Amino acid sequence: MEFKLNEYRQGVTDVELLADVLRVAGLLGDVYLSFSVYKSHGKYSESTFRKRFGSWLNVLAKLGMRTERNSIEMKRIPDAEMISDLQAVAERLGKKIVTSTEYGQYGKFSLPTIAERFGTWANFVEKSGLKSTGQVRNVPDADLFTEIERIWISLGKQPTTTDMKKGISKYSLDTFMRRFGGWRNALLAFIEYVNADGQNEESENSIALPMPGASHFADIDAQALKSRVSAKRTSRNINLKLRFTVLQQDNFRCRSCGASPAKNPETELHVDHIVPWSKGGETEISNLQTLCSKCNLGKSNHEFC
Ligand SMILES: [Zn+2]
Repeated sequence: MEFKLNEYRQGVTDVELLADVLRVAGLLGDVYLSFSVYKSHGKYSESTFRKRFGSWLNVLAKLGMRTERNSIEMKRIPDAEMISDLQAVAERLGKKIVTSTEYGQYGKFSLPTIAERFGTWANFVEKSGLKSTGQVRNVPDADLFTEIERIWISLGKQPTTTDMKKGISKYSLDTFMRRFGGWRNALLAFIEYVNADGQNEESENSIALPMPGASHFADIDAQALKSRVSAKRTSRNINLKLRFTVLQQDNFRCRSCGASPAKNPETELHVDHIVPWSKGGETEISNLQTLCSKCNLGKSNHEFC
């Protein structure tokens, strides 16, 4: 007894799948049929073939079709076709930089073929119009993280690649993808960066604000001063790690009025010292809160009036 449930359930038989490949091959009259070429004329998806036969090459082998072109046929293939195949792989992976390993996995031409034609992988990549890594090498990671933070805050949620493609970022999505090897990796690197230990240590990138003048010291809240007699003062500048932690704790909402950029894109969030730094308030999580620009402004007006 033969059980056919699998085929029945999926609606299309192996024979039908293979017949469609032959139909397209006949249509085009080429010795070799890549999946990307099949796709533009064929009825079935790559995943269907993969599920059923393991890989596209297996499909070709099963049909007794060539799985590769010979060297003479290869030479007739224009550069443009190879280049557009790389672009197709990039698009399929949703990436603007494709490694040779990835291409080896998804591309239709072998790596030795590419090497023979273009010399180096970098040259092939450059010809395809995918931007070279050199263009963004100079932007420090810290700047990229600051930009992720800014976007995250302005959206009030984790930015997606779709968000990034909307032109809200100072640096292109490609820049992040190239640097970190994908958008998710960029976010992971960012999270790791902001969650790294250290309360508010001075880093090379933070702006060192001048210590308040003697007249300010006179205003320092005695209580606040007493609580940290021995401790060295924290920097007034709230570094990215700390700022992001505070924003996250407050769910990207103003602690005073509840405004959030997720609801109202015009909302601008600030991280504010509860006890002003000039009055002895430290730059540490317990003394920081998220306020919208309106509430923050209201607060400082009170302080100065
Ligand atoms: Zn507010």
